[in-house]
Amino acid sequence: MSTIIEPLRGVHDILPSGIGTWQFLERTTREVFAAYGYEEFRVPIIEQTQLFKRSIGDFTDIVEKEMFSFVDQGEDHITLRPEATAGIARAMISNGLLRGARQRVWCMGPMFRRERPQAGRYRQFHQIDAEAFGFEGPDVDAEIILLSARLLRRLGLTGVKLHLNSLGTPASRASYRERLIGYFSAYESQLDEDSRRRLHANPLRILDSKHPETQRIVAGAPHLGESLDPESRAHFEALCARLRAAGIEYHVDHRLVRGLDYYTRTVFEWITDSLGAQSTVCAGGRYDGLVEQLGGPPTPGIGWAMGQERIVMLLEQLGRHDGLQSPDVFLVASGERAQAFALELAERLREGSPRLRLQVNLGGGNFKAQFKRADKSGARYALVLGDEEVGRGVVALKDLRGDQAQVDCPAEEIGGRLSVLLGLDEGNTGKS
Ligand code: ATP
Ligand code: MG
Repeated sequence: MSTIIEPLRGVHDILPSGIGTWQFLERTTREVFAAYGYEEFRVPIIEQTQLFKRSIGDFTDIVEKEMFSFVDQGEDHITLRPEATAGIARAMISNGLLRGARQRVWCMGPMFRRERPQAGRYRQFHQIDAEAFGFEGPDVDAEIILLSARLLRRLGLTGVKLHLNSLGTPASRASYRERLIGYFSAYESQLDEDSRRRLHANPLRILDSKHPETQRIVAGAPHLGESLDPESRAHFEALCARLRAAGIEYHVDHRLVRGLDYYTRTVFEWITDSLGAQSTVCAGGRYDGLVEQLGGPPTPGIGWAMGQERIVMLLEQLGRHDGLQSPDVFLVASGERAQAFALELAERLREGSPRLRLQVNLGGGNFKAQFKRADKSGARYALVLGDEEVGRGVVALKDLRGDQAQVDCPAEEIGGRLSVLLGLDEGNTGKS
């Protein structure tokens, strides 16, 4: 026997038994984005490595050590996308969608980062992304946060808290940078290795360190708020006022910086205490310089990304899902003529009732074995076909979940009968 091929570390399968939670999340996401006039945007999973290096920034965990990158047979340098914003910004530019125009879009799909796998942290994971281009804000900052708040609320996740901060403009960040270098230099020998290396190149990164000893030093670091330029301060205050007016609670967290270099002004995270260490379920901010940095026209932007695995874990704790998709009907057929007719009948029924969920017994077996499968399938009804039924032009209908007696029904009437029993025509107007 050959050896089993194991899945890669940090990737996971989503099994049919758990898919109802994902479907609930994805269906609700589509509804909420539609309610705000955001349109779906699908971008490639592979991009030129340069795109992520240029946008996310050196001295970030992603670019330094987490990207899945390779050189393909044609010498192209390719990376599996670690996040969606860079690809969406690239696509906006490539397709000329930003010339004098504003865009509000969303996307959903897999991302790849070579992290140390643990609960809530994977190497292939999924994100829901919202992005808005061309708005100076602060109204768009408020809108995109309200959108995330509504999505979380619609999902039933009321225990997640909003943390907010402003990183100011690149200029005000530069003066903060100098103050941080001054502060951290005094503790240089106690910092973790990554933070020591980033001390002069990108000291803001140190604030985001997950290292416990470094975090203790971070606790005493100067606040960014004190270095904020007046325009950024006014922008931030206007955002906060809009959130208050909308009844959204928030916590201003002066240590909140994001793991990517491209953020300016507003940054925010939605944090839960129900998931242990992996507590951020959604994170985002404003990235006014990104589009220009990627060669596009100067265009402000703002967005967020929500980690689907972490949201699914919260939904599972609450037992929220779209339910199992059991078939409505299981078709049992025994005998040569009956088996030959079964697939044909099933096709006819699906043609007549597009919403009917019908599973056909495959691979034969006696009636007893087939009824066992019918029961296990979760179907409400069984259709029973033997050679004798085929000869009489009837199908037997059996209620698998009630105590109604099995009845014969003419084969050409069974579709209509099932539609009535299952309520499949309700809400349908006109003929299909
Ligand atoms: P963290 O600090 O947890 O590493 P991050 O700052 O790297 O997060 P972002 O790049 O902002 O994360 O991604 C947005 C969201 O995507 C995160 O808040 C999280 O919910 C989710 N996420 C990020 N990385 C992973 C991962 N490796 N596995 C599962 N979800 C992830
Ligand atoms: Mg990370």
